[in-house]
Amino acid sequence: MATNGIDQFLRTQAQSAASFSSTRAVLERELYWSRTSTEIEVYKCSDARVKGSRYLKTPLGVLTPRRTIGGKFEMWWPDLQKEIEMWRQRAAKKFRHRCLSLFSYHFSRGDEHRGCAGFDCQTNDAIAYTTALLEDFKRIYQQSTMFGVMVGFETDLEAMVLHGESGEVLDLAEVEITSVSRLEWMIRRLFPSMDEESVRDFVPRVQANIEHIQEVRELERPIEALGHQEHMLLVGRGYEYMHDPNALIVSPHTPDLAVPIASAGGVILNNINQGLVIPAKTPIVVVTSAPYFEPIGPEPELARQKSLGLCRFAYRVLEERVPELVRNYPVSTLAVTIDMTTWRLNIHDRVDR
Ligand SMILES: [Zn+2]
Repeated sequence: MATNGIDQFLRTQAQSAASFSSTRAVLERELYWSRTSTEIEVYKCSDARVKGSRYLKTPLGVLTPRRTIGGKFEMWWPDLQKEIEMWRQRAAKKFRHRCLSLFSYHFSRGDEHRGCAGFDCQTNDAIAYTTALLEDFKRIYQQSTMFGVMVGFETDLEAMVLHGESGEVLDLAEVEITSVSRLEWMIRRLFPSMDEESVRDFVPRVQANIEHIQEVRELERPIEALGHQEHMLLVGRGYEYMHDPNALIVSPHTPDLAVPIASAGGVILNNINQGLVIPAKTPIVVVTSAPYFEPIGPEPELARQKSLGLCRFAYRVLEERVPELVRNYPVSTLAVTIDMTTWRLNIHDRVDR
């Protein structure tokens, strides 16, 4: 019998929710926030291999991820502008004075075909796009408490590549484990206009990535595990728990959400056509999610309606734009909301196909 894709998804989520609310995780977050006053957000591709908290070794739920196919954000998107503003306000309320925004692209050092599907694996195009996006961000926020940095996420070694303000590139896979003062010197040289507080809070993340690269090297994990086998399309927000490399996550920031949903559907169909995904073994699943931060008041119901609406919308987009996928293969759907204080899921609609 085929594995049920939705049950599988729910199992993974329940495990993550349990670790998120474990005493250990709560203490880790408290310790993290006692040492830093900088909120970090990460603009990235929908490709779930790009997992900020693993690369930067942060406790679950402290980074704010923003995802779209290829990381092709545009700063004019009204929903994105609203999200950034709300995020800044939440940070200010918690006395976190600085906001660091990492604008990322991703690639593989071993094989360009393991690069970003959103840019047809053309890393130079991804870099050019991200450079222009960061420029737009800087024009808006240069007089504020926000600081933007461009980084590459290299998925073979899970290494960060830092792009300095004057174009200098530093691959952390080529940096030895070194002292904090040495790293501070390196960061100041790369980002001369970064404020002292952000430098102080960014350096531990850089150091953590250098350690992480070392751990990945020691693992010697099989390279096959790193290719494209995406068969899950996750639309909406609140997927911080998801670390399955076979999930494509689309945040609803763009005013034309049909575009990234159709692209993600196309990536999954392409994986099936190439034999990388066999639907009978790895079922195709579409999940929609909306988070809420205040369990009392209008937020949970707003989230419920958003998730249900997104679910109908996403399925319709696939029917219209990627008909070969939904007609030829069973695509199950699930609409959920998530309480961001506990990561507990509420299921509002489920269709197993
Ligand atoms: Zn990508």
